[in-house]
Amino acid sequence: QATLKSTAKDPYPDWKAGDPVPYAALCTTFSKIEMTTKRLEILAHCSLFLRQVLRLTPSDLLPTTLLMINKLAADYTGVELGIGESLIKKAISESTGRSSQHINSDHNEIGDLGLVAAKSRSKQPTMFKPKPLTVQGVHKGLLAIATIEGQGAQGRKVDGIKKLLSAADAHNAGKHVDIDKDKGGPSESKFIVRTLEGKLRLGLAERTVVVALAQAVIFHEMSQKGKTPSTADLATGESTLKTVYSELPSYEVIIPSMLEHGMLNLRENCRLQPGVPLKPMLAKPTKSITEVLDRFEGKDFTCEYKYDGERAQIHFVAHDADMEMATAAPSAGKSDRGVSNIFSRNSEDLSKKYPDILAKLPTWVKEGTKSFVLDCETVAWDMVEKKVLPFQQLMTRKRKDVKVEDVKVKVCVFAFDILYLNGEALVNKSFRERRDHLQDAFIPAEGEFALAKYGNTNELEEIQILLEDSVKASCEGLMVKMLDGPESSYEPSKRSQNWLKVKKDYLAGVGDSLDLVVLGAYYGKGKRTSWYGAFLLACYNPKTQNYESVCNIGTGFSEAVLETLHQQLSEIVIDRPKPFYTHSVGNKDQPDVWFEPRYVWEVKTADLTLSPRYRAAADEVSSGGKGISLRFPRFIKERDDKKPDQASTSKMIAEMYQRQESVSKTKGPSVDDDF
Ligand code: ATP
Repeated sequence: QATLKSTAKDPYPDWKAGDPVPYAALCTTFSKIEMTTKRLEILAHCSLFLRQVLRLTPSDLLPTTLLMINKLAADYTGVELGIGESLIKKAISESTGRSSQHINSDHNEIGDLGLVAAKSRSKQPTMFKPKPLTVQGVHKGLLAIATIEGQGAQGRKVDGIKKLLSAADAHNAGKHVDIDKDKGGPSESKFIVRTLEGKLRLGLAERTVVVALAQAVIFHEMSQKGKTPSTADLATGESTLKTVYSELPSYEVIIPSMLEHGMLNLRENCRLQPGVPLKPMLAKPTKSITEVLDRFEGKDFTCEYKYDGERAQIHFVAHDADMEMATAAPSAGKSDRGVSNIFSRNSEDLSKKYPDILAKLPTWVKEGTKSFVLDCETVAWDMVEKKVLPFQQLMTRKRKDVKVEDVKVKVCVFAFDILYLNGEALVNKSFRERRDHLQDAFIPAEGEFALAKYGNTNELEEIQILLEDSVKASCEGLMVKMLDGPESSYEPSKRSQNWLKVKKDYLAGVGDSLDLVVLGAYYGKGKRTSWYGAFLLACYNPKTQNYESVCNIGTGFSEAVLETLHQQLSEIVIDRPKPFYTHSVGNKDQPDVWFEPRYVWEVKTADLTLSPRYRAAADEVSSGGKGISLRFPRFIKERDDKKPDQASTSKMIAEMYQRQESVSKTKGPSVDDDF
């Protein structure tokens, strides 16, 4: 529940009911949030502001919420920020009339480009007062910048940024900004630049915004009836919004519906819809089959092959269904039977990558099947030997603009769950029922479409055999899933206790791999002088929104891979580490070059150790300021289906370390890794 009271004095007397929300008002809230680390206070600032928006300008609730979570549109639209530093610096320089040398030297000194923008703006003489920015205007401006494509795109992006920056800080232009005292305060330039960079760094998680939004709406609805909500009312609102959002992650659909029909009717009006991808359910790792038996004791469960490919959510609506695809992307597959779409684990549109799947899809759909959402894994398929190929083969497929006739690596789709069928959401049904539907609604086709192989058994020996068979069939191991009751429902976006993964690697004692972000690189020695020879990797800390260094890595790369990585990474070199990178301060450990946070790599490690050189999870383990580090890390593959903020978290690494320490109390002193 919000812990702050609304301030009696209205800080924005100009903001009248029906006026567009002033961007300055949102920035004041951002600034208040930035000045505290207390979660409840952050939540209260957020929810109070949203209440004010609801009271005065409800039509701006959507852009306000989107700017709070630093998104411009739902993930499946593919609209993203994360503009490169050089474009932002150019725009700051041109819009404030400061030389690029000044901007660069400020950047070197201050580190945070947002603050550089705030300082530059404050130094600018004020000739005339620009029209104040509005939340709507900023959202529109950012959307335009993010979607510019084609010839001269970079120049036009700079123009777009300049336009926003020139209108920023209408009230404060020319006023001194104390960047040390209050982190630059509510400067609009600062927040515009940080939004452009893709990192607001307020410690404001999307989860918190969802709770704040639910609270604000409940408060607003009840106050219109002259009532104050109870804690129970607020809790009902929060759980309703969370559930609805997990099935239909689109504020563009949910917020207008909430405004029109009210929170109480939200569940009825906003249900899972083909066309809007759900965040997939995820599994917890287990170390052994006996651990599975312990966790699922007394319950019926099923062991499915864990295919090693790419997760794909397939949506379909037949032409003769009495509904339409909610948001058919332009590249959606259209056939005589209906419209289909395919989304990645990140809700990215994969239609351009898999036109071959979309072309064949109608032949796998039974006559009476009119609409569905399937959860599947696409796997590279050997047409001659009729078997699954390793993941690396799948990676050689082009990512975009694939033409069906050019496809060399064929894929087979292995479906393992069905979330929606013939107009009805199935997520709350038991897995046994969902699997029955899966078996009834489709026609398998060899090498094209199949249901994941499984065995329903609670016997250790039989599970062992299934595991061995899965590995022989080029799978990674087993996914063990609860079959009955509410525990077996599909839990979108959750890493659930009711799905356990047993990978063959765990059994060999190596443990799960980690997905880490590349922050920097060191020039190679010997044969590798023309490329980078080693890299600095980091995990992600969602609480602080920082990337925390975790190891240097120089093993597992072929020459060809190093060459490709050099090409890829050269394009995202930045002058200095971002202020949200945490690494040891000693000069000798600094990488030769730093990168924008963009690429995620899967890495294996022998074990974990404490090290003063790295910062990972330093706040999570009492280690005298040392961070956790990987020993003998080895590059496995690029994870282009993961964004940097979906990398392994500091908390996960701390848990792995604690598990390891509790297992091997006999370990000697920590040793630093080296490359
Ligand atoms: P994370 O490390 O975040 O869990 P990941 O993709 O590395 O992500 P994995 O350990 O590989 O996770 O296990 C989950 C993935 O396994 C799913 O996302 C899915 O792509 C894949 N998968 C393959 N077969 C199945 C199956 N039968 N049931 C569920 N998932 C499956």
